[in-house]
Amino acid sequence: MIYVVFCTSKLFLKNLFLVHSIFNTLKTLKIAIQKSGRLNEKSVEILKNCGLTFENYKSSLISSVTNFPLEILFLRDDDIPEYVQDGIADLGIVGENVITETKAKVTHLQKLGFGKCTLKIAVQNSSSIEKLEDLNGKAIATSYPVILENFLQSKGIKSDIRTISGSVEIGPGLGLSDAICDIVSTGGTLKSNGLKPFADVMSSEAVLIGNEAIADHPEVAELLQRIRSVLSAKSNKYVVLNVSKDNLQKVVNLLPGVKSPTVVPLFEPNWVAVHSVIAEADFWDKINSLKAAGAEGILVMPIEKIIT
Ligand code: ATP
Ligand code: ZN
Repeated sequence: MIYVVFCTSKLFLKNLFLVHSIFNTLKTLKIAIQKSGRLNEKSVEILKNCGLTFENYKSSLISSVTNFPLEILFLRDDDIPEYVQDGIADLGIVGENVITETKAKVTHLQKLGFGKCTLKIAVQNSSSIEKLEDLNGKAIATSYPVILENFLQSKGIKSDIRTISGSVEIGPGLGLSDAICDIVSTGGTLKSNGLKPFADVMSSEAVLIGNEAIADHPEVAELLQRIRSVLSAKSNKYVVLNVSKDNLQKVVNLLPGVKSPTVVPLFEPNWVAVHSVIAEADFWDKINSLKAAGAEGILVMPIEKIIT
């Protein structure tokens, strides 16, 4: 199929995808993910872990999944909410910060547990700003004016928001602003610019979003089920242990399993093997309690998927 489209850059891409979807009479589902950047690798990984097979994602704008009716669009993260809102893509994977900032009307389908970060206000180490009210009348540089404005409004504070698109952290040093509002992960960038974190504005992680009209589409439901089974498997471990029948009840009380633990007799009389699933979050506490309850030879294995 040959497309002839006369326009430029972002608009060009949007029109290209629009023309593509008009000609795509089979109405294959489309998911937009970041082309390159912090969310790209994990977005690709989660789709591959769902059993989807696709290639050439580095070099193309669109890639077809060979074993599921889905096409993947590779875009700048900032454009993803709008593409999903406008129905050019049916689904998207993007940070909550970008969704809030773009004010896109989309359905949040599933938090994905990666791309976690916090948007913070930071001030210079020597700053006289000590409490939130001290930000009244002060200039704050940010790439997230909408989120910052919402936050300040909710606290009844009026500041002068200066929107800049990058390198926000150099603002105070250049005398451009009294404070900044930016994504902070380790704090290293703040430190090297003589800044210190001052207030948390928003926590964010990557989420799967959907166009408001597509959410109950059967293929979306199938994909969502696969994504949830991958996420659930990731946050759990498969455990096999041996225990004497005398201690079995104590051990079983500690192991909920998906339904309940599997208990299998061992060749040695009065001993059984217990198979179960435990949550990653309280893994070490659980293992120590199991040992104290009489569990021996504990094997722990990763789980690929949990389908409930
Ligand atoms: P693009 O070229 O797609 O516009 P970008 O440079 O705007 O990319 P990235 O730096 O790749 O964006 O960040 C993408 C998203 O990753 C952010 O919007 C945020 O949700 C998340 N993220 C997680 N940790 C961080 C971090 N330490 N700094 C910035 N973003 C982070
Ligand atoms: Zn971006």
